[in-house]
Amino acid sequence: MSPPGEVPPEVDAHTHLYSGLAGLGLPTPSPRPSFPEILRTVWWRLDRALDRASLRASARLAVAEGLLAGTTTFFDHHESPAWIEGSLDVLAEACTELGARALLCYGVTERNGGDDEARRGLDECARFCALHRGHPTVRGAVGLHASFTVSDATLRRAGVLARDLGVPVHVHVAEDPCDDEDARARGHGSALDRLLGLDAVPWGSVLAHGVHLSTEQVERCAERGLWLVQNPRSNAHNGVGWARTLVASPRVALGTDGFRADMAEEAAAFGAEALAHGDDPRRARALVDGGRALAAAVFGGLEGDRVVRVGDHVVEVDVAGAPVVRGGTLVRASLASIEAEARREAPRLFRRMEEIPC
Ligand SMILES: [Zn+2]
Repeated sequence: MSPPGEVPPEVDAHTHLYSGLAGLGLPTPSPRPSFPEILRTVWWRLDRALDRASLRASARLAVAEGLLAGTTTFFDHHESPAWIEGSLDVLAEACTELGARALLCYGVTERNGGDDEARRGLDECARFCALHRGHPTVRGAVGLHASFTVSDATLRRAGVLARDLGVPVHVHVAEDPCDDEDARARGHGSALDRLLGLDAVPWGSVLAHGVHLSTEQVERCAERGLWLVQNPRSNAHNGVGWARTLVASPRVALGTDGFRADMAEEAAAFGAEALAHGDDPRRARALVDGGRALAAAVFGGLEGDRVVRVGDHVVEVDVAGAPVVRGGTLVRASLASIEAEARREAPRLFRRMEEIPC
């Protein structure tokens, strides 16, 4: 029998640990630009400004905050185009140091360096997956940024690599209409048609967002064993729309897309957004449960993960049988020192970012 207050572990099914410092003063444009402009002026400058020290600080802060909120498992999607080789090791170190589970990938793109950049990203995924094959808590996947920043050849290569390695692909899909517009300009019916037609997403792959998928497309994802991850705070923040059709699949999970990995906060945001869009707020529960099913499929179960809450507070967390939070504080590291490192690195990162042209 479970002790009083024991609740199931939480899973963040889509996030970006590299944006962990964003809450410490990330410069953002106002008024809010279009989604492609947000990518170009904020996130695609931040990712180019990342170095080892700022990535380590971001990841440690994001993982620490998640564990303290009862999130044991992170599905991360990483990009640091100025520094690809070895970048996943920094994320893995943060996760193993603090004791979190994670599925890590490099989000392959061609937007900065064309085919060479894509090959380097795929190589980083392959290297990391081989290194962590069978690891109890930190494993690799093959990442793709999104259909609209890669060629057909790269999509085919990613699918072949993921099947060879026996790992899922993790990719952004139909977050904004620009994804489908790009696919149509390349001669495909939609971004999803392009991914499926080029065999880029094997069974069990993780498709983030799907805001603009039709009900028929969502059903097709379910038939192909693909997971969809809804990120309500991010979608509202970026003004990309409400992912209404995802109800058509049983394989849907909840992600934070770079927001703090507090799944109770994200579920509350789901509820509020669902009501605002005339949808059913109770669906949040199915998404939270979906994240656990997804994580269990990747890790062969979530054996030894447990969370104890007293009221709203998470007081104990175990991951794979090891204590990582006790008495509401981290067991393996000091939150104060993680926060101090983050406060040191954030202004350095944002200064470098502002020196990078849009
Ligand atoms: Zn994302």
